[in-house]
Amino acid sequence: MRLRIISSLLCGIAFSAITHAVTVVDGKALADDTQGANWLSYGRTYSEQRYSPLRQVTADNVSKLALDWFLDLPAHKSLLATPLVVDGVMYFTGSYSIVIALDLKTQKVLWTYDPQVIEAAGDRGRVIWDSNRGVAYWKGKVYVATGDGRLNAVDAKSGTEIWSTMTVDPAKPYFINGAPRAFNDKIIIGNGGTEWGPLRGYVTAYDAATGKQIWRFYTVPGNPAAGFEDETQAMAAKTWTGEWWKHGGGGTVWNGLTYDPAFNRIYLGTGNGSPWNRKIRSPGGGDNLFLCAIVALDADTGKYLWHYQTVPGESWDYNSNMDMVLADLKIDGKPVKALLHAPKNGFFYVIDRATGKLISADKLINVTWATHVDLKTGRPVEAPNARYETGETLINPSALGVHNWHAMSFNPQTGLTYIPIMDIPAIFTDKGFNLVKWESPSFQFDPGVDLMREDVPLKLDASALIAWDAVKKKKVWEVKLPGVWNPGTLTTAGNLVFEGRADGMLVGYRADTGKEVWKFNTGVGLSAPPISYSVDGKQYLAILTGWGGAGVSMAGSITAQHGWGYRVHPRRLLIFSLEGGAVLPPSPPPQMAKPLIKDDFKVDPLVAEQGSHLFLKNCVTCHGGGAVSGGYAPDLRSSPIPLFLDGLREIVVGGVRKKAGMPAFRELTDSDLVALQHYIRRQANKSIETAKR
Ligand code: CA
Repeated sequence: MRLRIISSLLCGIAFSAITHAVTVVDGKALADDTQGANWLSYGRTYSEQRYSPLRQVTADNVSKLALDWFLDLPAHKSLLATPLVVDGVMYFTGSYSIVIALDLKTQKVLWTYDPQVIEAAGDRGRVIWDSNRGVAYWKGKVYVATGDGRLNAVDAKSGTEIWSTMTVDPAKPYFINGAPRAFNDKIIIGNGGTEWGPLRGYVTAYDAATGKQIWRFYTVPGNPAAGFEDETQAMAAKTWTGEWWKHGGGGTVWNGLTYDPAFNRIYLGTGNGSPWNRKIRSPGGGDNLFLCAIVALDADTGKYLWHYQTVPGESWDYNSNMDMVLADLKIDGKPVKALLHAPKNGFFYVIDRATGKLISADKLINVTWATHVDLKTGRPVEAPNARYETGETLINPSALGVHNWHAMSFNPQTGLTYIPIMDIPAIFTDKGFNLVKWESPSFQFDPGVDLMREDVPLKLDASALIAWDAVKKKKVWEVKLPGVWNPGTLTTAGNLVFEGRADGMLVGYRADTGKEVWKFNTGVGLSAPPISYSVDGKQYLAILTGWGGAGVSMAGSITAQHGWGYRVHPRRLLIFSLEGGAVLPPSPPPQMAKPLIKDDFKVDPLVAEQGSHLFLKNCVTCHGGGAVSGGYAPDLRSSPIPLFLDGLREIVVGGVRKKAGMPAFRELTDSDLVALQHYIRRQANKSIETAKR
């Protein structure tokens, strides 16, 4: 009996060796930029270049690229993940950190792993978007971070949970929507949430096999009275003033994490201050390390090595959480192991990874918060009034940033970096704020700056795809894009760049010139970046289609303009090849919200004004700036529910729709709800009047 089992096992091994090699996803595999069949990590490999070396699909034959097959994903809302591909199996996250494993040959779902985020989060759901940007893979296990703050390991073959570790204090408004990274038998993850409470940012590395914590690094110092963890924290504390720890400080690492195999380091892209307004957080000024910075740590110990701060003393949510791409460049005739970074603040940074020294920092567009970066000191030179010292200040960019988390890619053949950018100015002010008495919120949105009670976008059509030469420090080409919140890019050895658009088009460009060479209408706004992989030697392009992320949920008219109404348009995974022949079912056309008119509802301006504050603190996160929904949640101006107090109370206070993702706000009183009713009607009337003009 035993002999028979062994011999059949041996046969199985021999058979699989003939049919396909089994990839051990370890440090060697993740460092190999030359293999193109698999997509092993969020940014494909350790370099985070999102460059596929596959060259079957080229700029010359891409016109034949067509839909090969698709998978409907009706249970999901936001889809913005980068799928991984390991030996013909795809792993991706949908809404609420649900992981799906898909056999790319048979097109069958192998397993679905649901970490039950809504149930686990409970009332904390108010700060937890359903968005998740993807998984990590290491030696046969898939790792997913959940919206409510767990890091879970799942068996890649069966989808069975192996371990689960809570990485945050559930009493605080931390959430996770970023992808973990794997290196050296460790899994690293950060978190987000600085706009909802007094959070102190950190990252934690866990043992990949057991989930045991190996090291943790705090990105901002804690209360000096409690003693600093180490000399790095003591050093950072010298750049803070006042009682910053009462406000948490911020600096959460919610997106950018890059492992560098050349130096065995981890780079963190750190977040904004908590709150954004430095006058509250650190009233005596100071750089506030390590907010809005790239921090290099020893990957084995988590010990601090160097940092470069893009926004000293940040006051605008100009976080540096965006991707950090590793690239070998030749600068002034010398080879440089470079780190490329395009944070929210609108500059493109080239940093020498060996030393942490800034090589160049150049404006991608005409940002106005700083005139330039002084290369001697490495510091930005701020424009007068950038810190809204004299009341309202109009500056570029807005808190959405010039570049947000939407992936950028680097093509070693063209030497160009492909970056989705936005060009949206905003008014910042803290007029009327009691800066001394301001208190950190608890599970409510309050960044210590006035914004988003009104829906007054200054520009609606101001975004582009930019190809940037990091060596020559200049833009090589630019394609204007419709609307804003266009997602990330992929580039390939076939001289191609692919990027989805907010208007639902997936577009291919020549990587060298930016000429549009291919286009496909997906029928829904895109928020995910495409990937490329091969199965049995054939190259495919894949993308998740679905509208989501913080911009969609909060930005009002800026993202509502595309008409991707709540639960109107289908969510899918699309797979393309040169031999594709599948046809996508028609998608409903874009649908703009139609605010309800209720003539017998007399809006009391004072009550509506109270409602505007309550809306900003509690509702804006999902229902949109100025009560204009970008499609992430129902548009409350068009919904009948806010017209009736009893129904509104059942949902908002009673939580009867929590399974659909609407958490309970138990502390809201009837007079709060009435104030919200007046505000929502005010906003509805306003939009109807605007439309008449
Ligand atoms: Ca932020």
